[in-house]
Amino acid sequence: MGSLKKLNEFAIDHMMNPVLVFDHMEILQVCNMAASELLTVHKGMRLYDFIQGSDLRYILTPERRKQGKTREFTLTIAIGKKEYLIHGQELRDEKSKYLGLLLIYNDISGHERLKDEATYHATRDPLTGFWNREFFSEMAERTLADNPDTEFLMIVTDINHFKMFNDILGKKAGDEVLLSIAGMIKEKSRSLWVTSRIGGDSFAVLIPKSDYEEKHLLNYINTSLNQQNYALKLHIYVGVYEIKDRSVGVESMYDRAFMAIESIKGDMQQQVAYYDESMRSVRLREAYTVDDLEGALQKKEVVIFFQPVVEIRNERLLGFEALVRWRHPTRGLLAPNEFIPLFEKNGMIARLDYYVWDLACKKLSEWKDTELGQLSLSVNISAKDFFLSDLYANIVGLVDHYKIGTDHLKLEITESALALDIEKQLEIVNRLQEHGFIVEMDDFGSGYSSLNSLKDIMADVMKIDMKFFEEARDPKRARLIIESVIELAGKLHMPIIAEGVETGEQLKMLKDMGCQMVQGYYYAKPMPEDELIEFIGKHEIGDMREVMG
Ligand code: C2E
Ligand code: CA
Ligand code: CA
Repeated sequence: MGSLKKLNEFAIDHMMNPVLVFDHMEILQVCNMAASELLTVHKGMRLYDFIQGSDLRYILTPERRKQGKTREFTLTIAIGKKEYLIHGQELRDEKSKYLGLLLIYNDISGHERLKDEATYHATRDPLTGFWNREFFSEMAERTLADNPDTEFLMIVTDINHFKMFNDILGKKAGDEVLLSIAGMIKEKSRSLWVTSRIGGDSFAVLIPKSDYEEKHLLNYINTSLNQQNYALKLHIYVGVYEIKDRSVGVESMYDRAFMAIESIKGDMQQQVAYYDESMRSVRLREAYTVDDLEGALQKKEVVIFFQPVVEIRNERLLGFEALVRWRHPTRGLLAPNEFIPLFEKNGMIARLDYYVWDLACKKLSEWKDTELGQLSLSVNISAKDFFLSDLYANIVGLVDHYKIGTDHLKLEITESALALDIEKQLEIVNRLQEHGFIVEMDDFGSGYSSLNSLKDIMADVMKIDMKFFEEARDPKRARLIIESVIELAGKLHMPIIAEGVETGEQLKMLKDMGCQMVQGYYYAKPMPEDELIEFIGKHEIGDMREVMG
């Protein structure tokens, strides 16, 4: 009998797989050679101490054990560069009395089949080995519950333009990026950290507040990224939510951290943002539905304001730009930036814009055959309109319906509008021009690849916005650029409208540079319809077609 026991022990000791057995008092009694090599363990060690610092602590919690969830389980963990599948089993006698806990480690590095096991997928992100979204919530919740006195942060990351990175460099390169970020997180990970890839290019990490310092984090991220040498520069955003309210649920916690990122997204100067309550109210206010918009249109809450366009030379009024406003019953008068970006995201912009064009055409039809018949109206066309609707048919349909002809409705498109599917847009723009419409390139110089769009699209008028130059660090340089753009437009026989003109100095400068038209607070802010007649009455009316040459 004695020698059989010895044989048993000898066999276990020489097994290739690390094996651990804890007794019913949770004391480590068996720990073979492979285990001692792989893990920092020693006989007599307490289970509690052993699992700290390992993901086993999430599995072997007192509650889960009481609920019988740990009778038999598997878990994959990374140790060093290798991956192990741990089989855990509670040892019981015939009467089901608990004798102890057996843990066997299997090296599954490179074993795609094993990694594919259902157990793995149920809890893990297959690429990085981090918890997946579902399991992360469970693990994070548990960690918070187990550590009521520790302060925690929820930190999330988002890679700027990751999709583009993927599209251009391929999925493999994209995966490499994700793996290197996961590696960075793993390298820093400490006790009580719960790490997850919650989808796409987003990681979420729950960490004790005391482990966090912004400067160190950024230093670390940016030095690590610089070592990678990708063909495209990567910019990683970090959103931080300090967990003040533990009742909100883990999903809301990382959601809030993402809201923080949204507030700086697109700004390459910024990298970290912290959640504050005002962000949530912004989101709540943005949550319009299609019904809200339809209702608003029916109740005529959506209106246009008119901002004059003036010929510099003789200060004649040429027409107006129609700018949308929403007279919201509870929120007051809303400027376009409070709802247009959202409507562009959810596609409702097509409906809204059509409504605005309809109002503009109706106004033009009122002016037709009166002394205001020379005035023009410009409407804005969103990039999305080219794809969401039959833009050509809609616009032509409107002018036909109101019998206004094409001379007085001007169409403002932005350069960025041309970035999506240039061929399709060019074709539509050309057809509209051939039909007789004047197309204006809005915000020239601020969008995507300005010169490129200038080369491809034969717009009739160029609009530049002074605000982009006001922000310049070097005013002399800004002046030179404006001057050159005006000269360039001249060579292309494109009259220029300078927008955002607020001062007499600006006006004089633009006039000296040969700019033909201006629009801006210097003459008037966008005004509601009921102020129009009075404003028009004070000005001499010019003719747009003359300026167009
Ligand atoms: P935008 O087409 O570049 O319109 C010019 C914006 O500059 C207007 O802001 C106008 O109020 C503002 N502005 C004009 N003069 C001055 C000035 O002297 N100083 C300053 N600081 N600002 C001036 P608004 O009305 O808030 O419109 C913002 C943007 O919203 C527009 O920029 C346009 O891109 C978009 N938008 C407006 N109406 C519509 C619409 O009906 N459909 C679509 N798709 N977009 C619209
Ligand atoms: Ca515009
Ligand atoms: Ca503009």
